[in-house]
Amino acid sequence: MPASGPRPDVLVVGGGLIGLLIARELIRGGARVEVVDDRRAGAASPNAAGMIAPIAESSTDAAFARMAITSRDLWARLAPALERESGISIDYDDTGSILPVLDEPGRKVLAGIRQQATDLGEPTAELGRTELLRLVPDLRPGIEAGLLLPGEHRVDNRLAAAAAAAALERQGVTLHRATVERVTEESAGVSAAGAGFARDAGAVVICGGAWTPAIQGLPTLPIRPVKGQMIAFDRIDWAFTGAIRTPSFYAVRRAGNRLLIGASVEHTGFDLSLTDDVGNGLASAAADLLPALRDRQPVEHWAGLRPGTPDGWPLVGQLSERLHIAAGHFRNGILLAPLTARMIAPMVLGRPAAPVVPVPAAMRPRRFGPCTR
Ligand SMILES: Cc1cc2nc3c(=O)[nH]c(=O)nc-3n(C[C@H](O)[C@H](O)[C@H](O)COP(=O)(O)OP(=O)(O)OC[C@H]3O[C@@H](n4cnc5c(N)ncnc54)[C@H](O)[C@@H]3O)c2cc1C
Repeated sequence: MPASGPRPDVLVVGGGLIGLLIARELIRGGARVEVVDDRRAGAASPNAAGMIAPIAESSTDAAFARMAITSRDLWARLAPALERESGISIDYDDTGSILPVLDEPGRKVLAGIRQQATDLGEPTAELGRTELLRLVPDLRPGIEAGLLLPGEHRVDNRLAAAAAAAALERQGVTLHRATVERVTEESAGVSAAGAGFARDAGAVVICGGAWTPAIQGLPTLPIRPVKGQMIAFDRIDWAFTGAIRTPSFYAVRRAGNRLLIGASVEHTGFDLSLTDDVGNGLASAAADLLPALRDRQPVEHWAGLRPGTPDGWPLVGQLSERLHIAAGHFRNGILLAPLTARMIAPMVLGRPAAPVVPVPAAMRPRRFGPCTR
């Protein structure tokens, strides 16, 4: 059934964190916006770890790190604004990440990360055993030092997405629940349609995460699902509320007494099954660092699908005159969501909504060659 009411200026297809923050930015720019989302199991935004980790996530790529730092800085302003606009607390935490020194090779890697952070103008601090134990009393014996990256933050991604949706609804934005099967660009706009849904809009922004290439009417897009399984423990009572990162897993606090452990990287298509070998592997890696976890059972085990691209960079920009894309954020979509919204909104509106952040060439949707329609 066609949706009723005046045609929106922009229809955002996909209401994960990327689509929701883009919708918010478009509204700030004065556009009439609607969002359509079908709440698929395995969507990345509600199933992520919520790390806003610009340094540890980009140890080999300074260009990526600089962009990530810009987005981290946008989060610091966005988090209180989203809470105000929605009335929902999103558990934004700017304590930092701890990278413990596990062995001699690890010490060298951490020295490199520390140097990279310094080159980027980011603060670092060395932690000794006493300070480590004050923050994380469960740390196993033998870990004498660690690196603190205070510029790495985190957020409860489930609450952040819920807050972004609630903030839009408070502003009267319609959030349709439907699947868009096809988009068709016409001379005066774009129509989006699926079973029981049809809507015309002045422009469309595609934000379908890992499922983006399935939408008909788009060029061929090299986005593939990359599954990540995670587990969570309760009854954590440390002072430290940030994240701990090691080469084999990360542990991320949540408000209250929860600790998330992640994540596998599996190229198994759209399969979302939970496997004991991965769950047990994460639990045992975490217990090796934090022995108190050895006697506990995880309280949750879940999986999500990261939208992967061949080079790990997202696709952000214009596909054709009225059709835009922001998808393929792989491991960093929570981190990069605010910056993505700031980049794409002015392109869609054809005018700056705020100071324009240009989309770097590394994110252009056509960088993998001519897109065929
Ligand atoms: C286990 C795991 C851990 C992660 N940890 C982090 C982290 O710590 N930090 C970080 O920055 N990133 C992390 N990520 C990555 C991050 O979650 C993603 O990059 C980001 O959430 C992508 O957001 P999105 O809105 O593009 O996609 P999604 O969140 O997947 O949203 C896409 C939405 O589009 C909808 N949709 C799709 N197709 C259609 C259609 N045809 N019609 C209607 N609706 C449609 C879906 O239902 C879905 O709601 C993690 C991901 C996983 C899986």
